[in-house]
Amino acid sequence: MLLGLDVDGVVADFLGPFLRFVEKKTGCGPIAPDTVVDLSYKGHPVITDAVLEQCLAALADEPDFFDRLVPLLAPVEWRALDELSRAGRLVFITHRQASEGRDVQRLTADWLTRHGVSDPIVHCTADYKSKIVESLGVDIFVDDRHENCRDVAENTRAAVFMPDRQYNRFFHHPRVTRFGRFSEFLDHVR
Ligand SMILES: [Mg+2]
Repeated sequence: MLLGLDVDGVVADFLGPFLRFVEKKTGCGPIAPDTVVDLSYKGHPVITDAVLEQCLAALADEPDFFDRLVPLLAPVEWRALDELSRAGRLVFITHRQASEGRDVQRLTADWLTRHGVSDPIVHCTADYKSKIVESLGVDIFVDDRHENCRDVAENTRAAVFMPDRQYNRFFHHPRVTRFGRFSEFLDHVR
């Protein structure tokens, strides 16, 4: 059994710090996370296409942003992932992109090590995640973005799981299973 995990929105809290970043850049007031009902931010009162583009570009110049993200998992959940990783049964698959001479693969692996996975395998891809899921032979895949869940569910044999978030709640797919707490998902894997 090989488990493939997304990073942002699954094990790392990206949205909270990103909203703080948008607030700082635009000078707008606090943006409540539950106003984000879709990660494309379509129709969001503050995060218009122009704001999103500006903030994502500015993020590329923030060397510490990803490094400072806070984990979404409890220590016991990290220990379970470390065990799977040591047994060669865990890989991370992320759409994080390299920028300005920064080794995003290294940065992500270091962050994971700091939070409990001693020697993580991290794959950064700009392509459809189904391609790497298929080529690695991932059996169980987890992602918080509905586009990735649909892609992997429809183009691979992997079982697909999605953490329940405000921004993916509208999405339903017969081959995508939702879970609440990460420990619920781990119980399912066991
Ligand atoms: Mg994600």
